[in-house]
Amino acid sequence: MEPKLVLLDLDGTLHERGKAVPGAAGAVVKLRRAGHTVRVFTNTDSQAEATLVARIRRSGIPVALGEVFTPVVAAKRILPPDARVLVLADRAVRDDLATHARLAGPAEATHVVIGDCRQSLSYQGLDAAFRAVRAGAELLAFQHGPYFRAADGDHLDTGAIVAAIEFAAGKTARILGKPSPDFLRLAARDTPGALWVVGDDRTTDILMANEAGATAVQVRTGKYTDQAQSDDLPQPTHTIDSVADLPALLALG
Ligand SMILES: [Mg+2]
Repeated sequence: MEPKLVLLDLDGTLHERGKAVPGAAGAVVKLRRAGHTVRVFTNTDSQAEATLVARIRRSGIPVALGEVFTPVVAAKRILPPDARVLVLADRAVRDDLATHARLAGPAEATHVVIGDCRQSLSYQGLDAAFRAVRAGAELLAFQHGPYFRAADGDHLDTGAIVAAIEFAAGKTARILGKPSPDFLRLAARDTPGALWVVGDDRTTDILMANEAGATAVQVRTGKYTDQAQSDDLPQPTHTIDSVADLPALLALG
C-alpha cells in the first residue's frame, strides 16, 4: 500500500467538546506506523501556532510544531518577506504574525489580515483596516464563518467582521482557511503521497477535499448529525463512525 498524506480536522473529528475523541490518539499512532504522513488542520484563528500545538498535545494526541495547519500558519506561508501587515486580531495571533512580517498602520500596509478579535475589537481598529484596504492593501481573512457555537449559544465570528470591511471598502477578501481549496494545497505542499482529508463538516472539509481532488472521509462525530438529512451537501468518498476507524479503512484502501 502506498503511503498517504492524511489531513485530519481537529474540532468534531479528533476533538469533541475540547477532549480527544476515544481512539483518536491511537489512530494517529497507527497511521504513522503504517507509513502515512499525518497532519492536523483547523480553522481556529484565535491562538498562536505553538499554543495550539501544545493544547492538542495535552489532549493526548501526538503532534509536533509544523504538523498543525491553521489559517494563521497559512498567512505565515503566503505573506511575502517584504509584506507590511495591518492585523485585526487578538494579541497572541498578532504577535505570532509579527515574528514573520512587519506590522504596519493603515498608511503603509500592503496587506490587511482579519482574524478573531473578540478581546480587542474597536471602531479605531475597524476603521484602520477599512482605510488600508481602501488605499490598496490586499484583504486577507483567516476564515469567513458568520458565527460560532459555544456552550451558551451562538456568537459573532470573524466572517461578520470581514463582511463589514468588504462592504465599506467594496472589496472581497481572500479566505485563507476552510473551505478554500488553497488551504488544503498549502497544507499538502512539500509532502508526497495521495491526499486523504478526514472531517466532520460537509460544507467545509468534504467540499474542499472534493474540490482539491482528494479522497474525502466523513466521520459520524462532531457536526455529522446536524447535516445527516441534507442530501444537497457535498458527498464524501467514505463515511466512518469515528477517526478511530480510519487505520482500518486505509488498510483496506
Ligand atoms: Mg470539524
